[in-house]
Amino acid sequence: MSHPATESVCPTDDPLESLAATLFRPMGSDGVYARTALYEDVVERLGAFISRERDPRAEILRFPPVMSRHQLEKSGYLKSFPNLLGCVCALHGSETAIRAAADSHEAGGDWTKSLAAADLVLSPAACYPVYPIAASRGRLPSGGLLFDVAADCFRREPSRSLDRLQSFRMREFVRIGTPQEIVAFREQWMTRAQGLASELALPGALEVANDPFFGKLGQIMAVSQRQHSLKFELLIPYYATAKPTACMSFNCHLEHFGEIWGIHDSAGQVAHTGCVAFGMDRLAVALFSNHGTDVSRWPASVRQALAF
Ligand code: 5GP
Ligand code: ZN
Repeated sequence: MSHPATESVCPTDDPLESLAATLFRPMGSDGVYARTALYEDVVERLGAFISRERDPRAEILRFPPVMSRHQLEKSGYLKSFPNLLGCVCALHGSETAIRAAADSHEAGGDWTKSLAAADLVLSPAACYPVYPIAASRGRLPSGGLLFDVAADCFRREPSRSLDRLQSFRMREFVRIGTPQEIVAFREQWMTRAQGLASELALPGALEVANDPFFGKLGQIMAVSQRQHSLKFELLIPYYATAKPTACMSFNCHLEHFGEIWGIHDSAGQVAHTGCVAFGMDRLAVALFSNHGTDVSRWPASVRQALAF
């Protein structure tokens, strides 16, 4: 199949439009793009750059883009972000029923009316599947657990903005342990992340943040999250006058996942959890928008950090 590569990914008043034309190819849906070799090379180098920061004790797990619907429901996602969730649906039933539904499309009908939800959702963040895995191992060892996880994530927020993709890559370091271990992990990462941003010559600023909780009740949850400083973000502007984009987040879940999954620390207390998330696509776009599309002309220190 060939499509004109000049087809626009972003609206014409977007200063990042020419960047989009170099990094992505349209796939017929806002916020879902094919990635060029130039872009993917930088995403891979960023991945290696982050791997160098991994705690040697961390267990590495790579998740597929889908996860158990039951596990995500149990995690409380529907209370917080029902508007963002994508659920896998399929045609079920007899051959006759499936054939009739599929054929209705050819006849101008709506085959999607026959869809039924499967037992899978599209993962909205990389860390959700790790908590039931940790829980299945029984009480935490002394010192808790560390994971390095990654997944292709989906959030239903169609947008033409280059920093708001529906399908994007997320890498996370996850910590499960005592409240003190989680606080120390997050503190350490908030300092390190600023160092990483400066190694990449990206102008990053750390700020307290909130998740985009859904609806009126969500506003109360957002205020409470900020009041307790449960989320910080590393914000990086794509260009001098741009509103900064959250490229990393530093999250403290308190005992939320520990309670839901029955995870206990070595002293028998409900475990706390925290995670640091790297938005791989946002970081890659930040590099291109700040340093240009000719990687041979990126600052020497950045080229060294990314092993060019
Ligand atoms: P969080 O769970 O904190 O919302 O997301 C973790 C990280 O994933 C964010 O800091 C960001 O870098 C990345 N991320 C979240 N939403 C999007 C999005 O819509 N598009 C892209 N490209 N990355 C996102
Ligand atoms: Zn997480």
